Amino acid sequence: DEKKEIKKLNELLEKGPHAEPDQIKTFKDLPISKKTLLGLRDSEFMNPTEIQRESITLALRGMDILGAAKTGSGKTLAFLIPVIERLYRNLWSKVDGLGAVIITPTRELAYQIFEALRKIGRYHDFSAGLIIGGKDLKFERKRMDLLNIVICTPGRLLQHMDENSSFITTNLQILVLDEADRCLDMGFQKDMNAILDHLPNERQTLLFSATQTKSVKDLARLSLKSPVYVSVHENSQ
Ligand code: ADP
Ligand code: MG
Repeated sequence: DEKKEIKKLNELLEKGPHAEPDQIKTFKDLPISKKTLLGLRDSEFMNPTEIQRESITLALRGMDILGAAKTGSGKTLAFLIPVIERLYRNLWSKVDGLGAVIITPTRELAYQIFEALRKIGRYHDFSAGLIIGGKDLKFERKRMDLLNIVICTPGRLLQHMDENSSFITTNLQILVLDEADRCLDMGFQKDMNAILDHLPNERQTLLFSATQTKSVKDLARLSLKSPVYVSVHENSQ
C-alpha cells in the first residue's frame, strides 16, 4: 500500500504534471503523502503560504533551493515537508540511520522546528532529535545512532562531528540551512564551513534566509548545487 503510494508519488514528481504555484490552493494540491496530509490537517494547516507554494514541489523533485522570504512567511514547513517526504519515499528504514540534518542558529528555533516536525510528522515512523547546547552530551551521544532526523545548532553539531564516532553522516540525504543570515550574523560562518566539509557531497540542500546578504550568497555557493532561487516579496503573505 505504502509502496504503491510511493511509486505513484515518484512518478508524479518525475513526469508531472506539476501544478504552477498559482494553481496550488491547499496542501492536497501538492504531491505529498497521505500521512503528511493528515499531520497537516491535525495541525490545522490547510493552505500553503507563498514560499511554501513556490518551493515545496521543486524541493520534492530533489532540487537544491535558495529560498528568501521574510520572517513569519512559513519557511519552516517549506523545508520540513520536503525533508519528511524525501525520507518517506526512501522508506525510512532504508535510510539506515541519519537521513536529514537541519541546522538553525538558536536553541529556541531548534525547539520550534522540533515541535512543528512532531506535529506534521506524527503519522510517520521516524525518530527525530534535538542536538543543542545545554543538554547532556553523553545522553545525546547514546541516542545519536538511532536518529533519522537531527535538528541542531552549528556549534553543537560540529562538536559531535569532531568527538562522536557514532555520529555517522554517510547516508545523509538532505541538509537544511535554516535562517542562514542569522547563523552568519551570529558568527557561525567558520563552523558552517567545517560542517559542510564533513558532510557527503551527494545530498540535497535547502537554504532558507530572510535576507540575501553577501555572506549568505557565499554560503549558498559553498553548499548548493545548481540551486533554484525562490524569492517571495515583502508585500505578499
Ligand atoms: P519563518 O520561518 O518564515 O519566519 P515560520 O515557519 O516560523 O516562519 O512560520 C510562521 C508562523 O506561521 C508559525 O506560527 C507557523 O505555524 C505559521 N504557518 C506556517 N505555515 C502555515 C500555513 N500554511 N498555514 C497557516 N499557518 C502557517
Ligand atoms: Mg524560520
